[in-house]
Amino acid sequence: MSSERVSTDGRQRSPEQGDSDTTARVDAEVEGATEPAPGTGEIIAELEQQLIDFRRDIHRHPELSWQERRTTERIAEALRAAGLQPQMLKETTGLFVDVGDEHAPIAAAFRGDIDALPITETTGLPYASENDDAAHACGHDIHTTVMLGLALTCQRLHQQGRLAARIRVIFQPAEEKFPGGAREVVAQGVLNPVPRIFALHCDPKLTVGAIGTRIGAITSASDLVRIDVTGRGGHTSRPHLTEDVVGALGHIATMVPAVLARRIDARSGVSLVWGHIHAGNAANAIPSEGTLHGTMRILDAEAWKEAGGVLGPVVQQAAAAYGVDVQLDHVRGVPPVINSETETAMIDAAAKQVLGTNCLTLAEQSMGGEDFGWMTQEVPGSMFRLGTRTPDGESYDLHRGDYAPDERAIAVGVKVMAAVAETAVAELGARR
Ligand SMILES: [Zn+2]
Ligand SMILES: [Zn+2]
Repeated sequence: MSSERVSTDGRQRSPEQGDSDTTARVDAEVEGATEPAPGTGEIIAELEQQLIDFRRDIHRHPELSWQERRTTERIAEALRAAGLQPQMLKETTGLFVDVGDEHAPIAAAFRGDIDALPITETTGLPYASENDDAAHACGHDIHTTVMLGLALTCQRLHQQGRLAARIRVIFQPAEEKFPGGAREVVAQGVLNPVPRIFALHCDPKLTVGAIGTRIGAITSASDLVRIDVTGRGGHTSRPHLTEDVVGALGHIATMVPAVLARRIDARSGVSLVWGHIHAGNAANAIPSEGTLHGTMRILDAEAWKEAGGVLGPVVQQAAAAYGVDVQLDHVRGVPPVINSETETAMIDAAAKQVLGTNCLTLAEQSMGGEDFGWMTQEVPGSMFRLGTRTPDGESYDLHRGDYAPDERAIAVGVKVMAAVAETAVAELGARR
């Protein structure tokens, strides 16, 4: 049961929550129900310190993909303390929660990812990771906390009778590991009654207080490609008596990306780039095996589906010229995140309302992968970029041990998401 107490004005507060104006509030409570219910902005301001404390706790205890047991438990505890009933994902980490009348339809879902990276944190912050082998270097601790803040805010609105539909908040595991926990969430049917979905990602290039949105692809499809070449090795003085594995690798490495760029629509932004090539040990010996590893990124969902069918034959043809045997291992990663027009417009309107017009920017398209793409394949949705850079502060990058987002971004994220939720609820009400 809930450990919170409900004041006479129907407002619910957690006992451990930081409060600077306790005396004033207690006086108001004694006077009774004359005080108007707090607005959404006030609720978020009241929750902010609790959210920062929560974020620092999970930041200190980061957990890698599919291992987020403590994180899952902490989220569930915080939700239960607010009187909510989280539902655990089956046979894995992660959870989701519905906020609002259980008989009401769902107006929208909101997704935050909860996993950390196998990176050593070097920020030196007092709440830095206690585990040298893991760090929240992609800001997923911020995403998790924003989603918790959204659930708690909407719960208070519901308790005030101001949430006329349900919203679903999803805490998704394993974003950082192909093909990503989002696919598992979809497979478990969590999106089945969901008409639209929203997410956010930290952006260390944007100043805190600003957000970035974009219609269309905001991230790229990202696949892993591995090619193993084998042939008869031999002396470099007699290559005609061998199958030249090194020559074949060089040919494949240059020919395949070039041909892909001609066979697949250039507007899809296909980009096959090698990060690892290896064969041989001696200057005068042609080896009998070699490998190439790389990533294939594509900004268009349809082209992504086609690309695998083009890749195989092109690799075979490139290898055939040298007479070597070739084995292609093409691992599908994630589809691009395609932001729909309507849902992006909802974020834009919400951001203008709660942050002001100047705080809204056009987000850059990223060639990075993000498993939220599995969700935007299922239902219309939009992901926005949340500025985490301190004004005039250092410009960090994600996936680095020194990434230190400005924590004020949490309240900004909750404000935008709560405003989006209120819009989605109002729109659903207007249609019913
Ligand atoms: Zn990441
Ligand atoms: Zn991330």
